[in-house]
Amino acid sequence: MSAGPGQSTQAAGWRLHPLGPSGARVVDGFLAERLRVNRQHTIPHGFAQLQRSGALGNLRLAAGADGHYRAHADSAGATFPFLDSDVYKWLEAVGWELGRAADPALAEAADEAIGLVAAAQRPDGYLNSYVQVVGGGTPHTDLAWGHEFYCVGHLVQAAVAWHRSLGDDRLLAVAVGAADRIDKEFGPTGRDGVDGHPGIEMALVELTRVTGDGRYLALAARMLDLRGRGLLGEGRFGAAYWQDHQPVREAATVAGHAVRQLYLDCGAVEVAVELGDQDLLAAVGRRWQDLARTRTYLTGGMGSRHRDESFGDPFELPPDRAYAETCASIAGVLLGWRLLLATGEARYADAIERVVYNGVLPGVSLGGTRFFYVNPLQRRTDRAYESPGRGHRAPWYPCACCPPNLMRMLSSFEQYLATSDDTGVQLHQYATADLRARVAGGAVRLAVRTGYPWEGRVTVEVVEAPDGPWTLSLRVPQWCRSAVLTGPGGARPRAAGAGYAELTWPWRAGQEAVLDLELPVRVTEPDPRVDAVRGCVAFERGPLVYCLESADLPPGARLEDLRWDPRREPATVPRPDVGDAVVGIAVPVVRRPAGGSGAADGSAGAIPYFAWANRGAEAMRVWLPR
Ligand SMILES: [Zn+2]
Repeated sequence: MSAGPGQSTQAAGWRLHPLGPSGARVVDGFLAERLRVNRQHTIPHGFAQLQRSGALGNLRLAAGADGHYRAHADSAGATFPFLDSDVYKWLEAVGWELGRAADPALAEAADEAIGLVAAAQRPDGYLNSYVQVVGGGTPHTDLAWGHEFYCVGHLVQAAVAWHRSLGDDRLLAVAVGAADRIDKEFGPTGRDGVDGHPGIEMALVELTRVTGDGRYLALAARMLDLRGRGLLGEGRFGAAYWQDHQPVREAATVAGHAVRQLYLDCGAVEVAVELGDQDLLAAVGRRWQDLARTRTYLTGGMGSRHRDESFGDPFELPPDRAYAETCASIAGVLLGWRLLLATGEARYADAIERVVYNGVLPGVSLGGTRFFYVNPLQRRTDRAYESPGRGHRAPWYPCACCPPNLMRMLSSFEQYLATSDDTGVQLHQYATADLRARVAGGAVRLAVRTGYPWEGRVTVEVVEAPDGPWTLSLRVPQWCRSAVLTGPGGARPRAAGAGYAELTWPWRAGQEAVLDLELPVRVTEPDPRVDAVRGCVAFERGPLVYCLESADLPPGARLEDLRWDPRREPATVPRPDVGDAVVGIAVPVVRRPAGGSGAADGSAGAIPYFAWANRGAEAMRVWLPR
């Protein structure tokens, strides 16, 4: 059960196996640039912000230093007792990065942070700077709001990253101590307790995989079983806010706080595959289905209510009031990935693609040091009621869950590109990358080359392969109307009935498969039940959702004056001003000023939504009226 450095997550129940941290390297192209910015700008910026915000200083106080604790009361007076988790998420990102390539400065910063984390831990294993410094020192007196398990969950994930990526177990020793402290109090013969913010469940399963100690898996399963039994009470927003309104295997739909629900379901999938619990897995699948069908934005974003960061009712998806927290998009990737591994179904890889390009990437500026917490699909020219700063990405947040979550997502994103099983290798996401996998016959190495997402050709060269046939599977995205897969002479591709085009062949080094995906501009109509955008259309190309931004309009024109002109076809245009190789869309529009007279035909330049708000705070919209 244990997995050493460089090895993949090998759970008994996964249908598909991850390649692990050393199995995929993005080497060029669009994704390589996003990963480079994350490594060279975002993560170092993150360390500076952890120092500024007090998150590192808090741990120093817990370790015995003198000073003032920083719990970041926001304007509403709320206290955030979970700043330790910012440090852990950042450390997770650095663990993956140092496994990708050495970086002495990053390693030195991480050593400092790891030293503080280890020094802050009490001899009994307990670790939470808030409780230790200003919370009276007694653990677990406020499971509903205290985030103590949640923080340990992120500590464990960081420890797993350092173990798998580098074979460095300094954090693992701390994480095991912290998890043991929780198990001692809340294990099979202990107190009944669940955290108001799920997250630890999936981490505990990983801890069992890494250590081989089944207690953590059992504890995760116990926490899932205890949820939905009213242990947390009603709180400020009702029991559904923290998914304590119904048992995990009974709740038919997602409910409450979006990130909490998605993290909880990640834990449920992990426990289900380890225990072979098909009922539990099916319950998560049902909720996902409902979520994908009724409560997901075109961007893949989830959560439409600001008040409690929650899902709305079915089809309650207003573009201007979208919450679509960056963390919820990241959680969508985490859950989609687990469901993909558990089932092998392409729809989960489709969902990951949509939310990565259009829900995760917009959360960070192109320069890498400014972040969105909330990701609306519309921002008006007139916004008298908007709080100052909205529409601008911020360098950090008092509640800074999203920025370091983005860092760890991007640092590990290579691991989401492909999987393997006994029969072959499956490519789910396309980037120019070198892949290493194992099939039944032996080791496989692939060199993937593509201009994706701007171009639709994906070339897969076999660099190394065992004797005998195995299957290369390439996902044909759900949005794609025409895809052609060609292989070596004589190899006959199988149709993409299940979302993958496949070639079973006795591959030899030097042979290639080429997938050509057609990338026309798509004019997308919303589900008519989404009242907020009825009568509008959106523009998509490949995996990307596009938006119109006021920076691209002629002087004096207002975004609100534009309507889509269906008589003329949209066309692609190069947009080097937005980024290298970026393809924009010229959207045919009629300009009809409100209250004014006359109409003028023209076109407006749409850019990929992930690139919005990089030219100052602008008016923007994804959905355009007819
Ligand atoms: Zn967040």
